[in-house]
Amino acid sequence: MASDFEQFRNYASTVLKAKAFETDSGKESAHLFRASLETTQGHINWTSGAKNAHGEIFRLTPGFLDIYQPNALADRHNGRFIIAMHSALFVAITEFTMFCFAQRGFFSDIGDAAIETSPTPINDRPPGLWLIDLTNTGGRVNAEHNARLIPKCTDRYVMSIYLALLMARFVWMHELAHCFNGHVGLIHDQGIAIRLYESQDPQTLIGFSRPSHNMADRSKRLHCLELDADQSALSSSMRIQTDDNLENIVGIAELDKQTRQRLMLFGSYAMTWLFEEFQVYLNAQGGETHPLPYLRLHGLMQTSAKILPAHINNFTAMDAEVCSQFDFVRRSIPGFYESKSVLTDRAHPKIVDELGGLSEFFQGMLPDLEPLQFSQK
Ligand SMILES: [Zn+2]
Repeated sequence: MASDFEQFRNYASTVLKAKAFETDSGKESAHLFRASLETTQGHINWTSGAKNAHGEIFRLTPGFLDIYQPNALADRHNGRFIIAMHSALFVAITEFTMFCFAQRGFFSDIGDAAIETSPTPINDRPPGLWLIDLTNTGGRVNAEHNARLIPKCTDRYVMSIYLALLMARFVWMHELAHCFNGHVGLIHDQGIAIRLYESQDPQTLIGFSRPSHNMADRSKRLHCLELDADQSALSSSMRIQTDDNLENIVGIAELDKQTRQRLMLFGSYAMTWLFEEFQVYLNAQGGETHPLPYLRLHGLMQTSAKILPAHINNFTAMDAEVCSQFDFVRRSIPGFYESKSVLTDRAHPKIVDELGGLSEFFQGMLPDLEPLQFSQK
């Protein structure tokens, strides 16, 4: 029988006409990809034995795709679920987290923040996309780029890598939730989409909506699935940082709990902003398949306010401190979130009503979704 990864390779080449990214190539650059995939595989093992109402056993294979365009996806092929991250997404996340830790005010209690130079983005491109542009145009990172990109303090550099792994984990957990919570089954059953992508690729949307679904209804359904996957991703990511033995990345497990939790929370919130940048990059119409990133951010904040105070002392203060880090990034990227308005907008009627309305709509989807959901009971 073909190994899991052989099946992933086969899916990549036959369905996506793409190449799987080989993380065991021995190349130094593959090391971080391997670490991200290994920690994810460890957490996927928790789902062992899970079944849905049809008695189907949950089987899932994760992998990176060698595609230089930032995206991630969840799909099903030959009776197993597939979750995939384009290599460019992980590269972009890493560029972004290094940029954050190179900002002097960003989590300034970590390492020697005073030696950081708070660089502005190279060529005014958002961190995360500059490197993709450069690589796509045949450019190479030189010493001057490195001097600007990489945090000066070694501890902060290491921390930026941990943050990248945590942000990638949020993406993996989000994709896992699309499979585990029955979303992929539902979109296939109802002909809503062929697979779930994180950034909308215009090519995959044409012709896959059955005439019975009007476009507004279809968008609303997809928005609800995104918010549900975000909620699950945040819950699992946080559980790993509140329980004692679940973190399987040794360096992160050795950090104090508060640092781990703050990094995880910042990374999850910031991921919504990165997705918006990627969406712009893909030049697609925003708001069609995914809720606006700012709404997703608030969906996450509602989830954290609901579940985290039970696990973290003085969570409100931690949440405010995490949000205040936005401002240090914003000094160099003016389009980034601003803490004051983010915190005030939590009670904004438009946000509260929109999330409330989607949550109610989602309740109506549950009768179709529940038989497709997996559980370990
Ligand atoms: Zn999604």
